[in-house]
Amino acid sequence: MTDKNVLIIGGGVAGLSAALELARLNIAVDLVEKGDFPGGHAIRFACKATDKCVKCGACAAEEKLRDALQHPNIRLLAGSHVQKVAKNGRFSAVIQKKAGYIDPQKCSGCAICFEKCPSGAILRGFSKSHSPFYALCEEKCLYVKDKSCGLCQEACPEAAIDLEVSGELLHCEADAVIAATGFSAFNPESKPYGYKVFRNVITNLELELMLRLESRAIRPSDNTEPKKIAFIQCVGSRDAKLGHLWCSKVCCGSALRMARLIKMRQPQSEITFFYMDVQTFGKDFQQFYEVIQKEIRMIRSIPGDIFKVGNDCLRVIFLNPATHETLEDIFDLAVLSVGITPSDETKSLAELLHIETDDSGFFSRSLSQNGIFTAGTARGPMSIAETIADAGNTVYETVKYLAAEQ
Ligand SMILES: Cc1cc2nc3c(=O)[nH]c(=O)nc-3n(C[C@H](O)[C@H](O)[C@H](O)COP(=O)(O)OP(=O)(O)OC[C@H]3O[C@@H](n4cnc5c(N)ncnc54)[C@H](O)[C@@H]3O)c2cc1C
Repeated sequence: MTDKNVLIIGGGVAGLSAALELARLNIAVDLVEKGDFPGGHAIRFACKATDKCVKCGACAAEEKLRDALQHPNIRLLAGSHVQKVAKNGRFSAVIQKKAGYIDPQKCSGCAICFEKCPSGAILRGFSKSHSPFYALCEEKCLYVKDKSCGLCQEACPEAAIDLEVSGELLHCEADAVIAATGFSAFNPESKPYGYKVFRNVITNLELELMLRLESRAIRPSDNTEPKKIAFIQCVGSRDAKLGHLWCSKVCCGSALRMARLIKMRQPQSEITFFYMDVQTFGKDFQQFYEVIQKEIRMIRSIPGDIFKVGNDCLRVIFLNPATHETLEDIFDLAVLSVGITPSDETKSLAELLHIETDDSGFFSRSLSQNGIFTAGTARGPMSIAETIADAGNTVYETVKYLAAEQ
């Protein structure tokens, strides 16, 4: 099908996996990613292997990204937004692409621009092994503001930076469209846990990135290693008050794997896991769970409040699950396991593409709607492995559609 072209919106694991499978079938792909760096949420995850692989999937995300970036049939349009899609036989789309100041083909990732920039305008990507390594933040750049600086361009040994380039409006023709725009993590600021108020309350996604970049858990308030760490599960999931009745499926497994990794790397740490019930899947999990119960204090109770006490520590209030009496404990760091919610843009994209959403706000479960397909967590909570499998199903349906349209 060399003459076929598919437009994929969203460059996370779902979009990358679908792009790769199509590209390997000789179908050309335009992959539109709104962010500066492709890879979605999963490219920020740490490998959680302890003495052996715990199948967290983080390396699968890396692998998809590396292979997609190298494939000649995939054109990645990072920093881009689809503005219009019309169907008149084929699909035609208008895409706004922001200026690409740093050429990913030339950039070697040497970090000189990052070090020279006086205003923090050079953003570092999440993958250490694949370009794009850096991007430029227009809001912070002094050249974009008033041309008063050009240090990054002058210093780049590869001549990869051009501060004069501007954004462009692209027109793209496609035979099918795949929406793979992923999820938004629940924002826990409305919960009584002091997120964004107390410095040592962080989310599980922030802990993922911390473990990826720093290889250990640290207290943001003073950069020291926390001794007592609380994990609080189901923040924003299975919550009737919010109307979020679904289980996010991945948070228990992810939090337990991170807890175990911290315990191995920081053996002095004492970890308490507050949960409703442990939702994890996979044939090796029972074994893993038996080991973890010996290392981690498991409390079947979701805390009501967190208060700040001396030295930026946190007083966590919870019910004793057996007696229902109120208990409290002091922690150095609290990690909120925020769940998967429909992406902020799911609704507007559904309107743009004329596709349906379900009662929860995710794309409807039917894979195809008139040549427009959906994939990954935009359709509901999924692990990385499930997302890859889901993208495979979507590609199968897309290829069937393309063959029938010939
Ligand atoms: C806290 C947490 C921990 C997790 N840990 C694990 C784990 O340990 N193991 C595991 O298997 N899974 C884990 N998951 C699940 C994992 O994150 C998902 O399976 C995976 O990220 C899904 O990929 P995706 O492509 O569907 O979505 P995303 O990762 O959300 O990617 C979507 C992409 O689409 C882009 N996008 C969105 N809207 C637009 C638009 N309008 N135009 C262009 N681009 C757009 C986004 O910028 C993003 O790059 C975890 C999830 C959470 C919340």
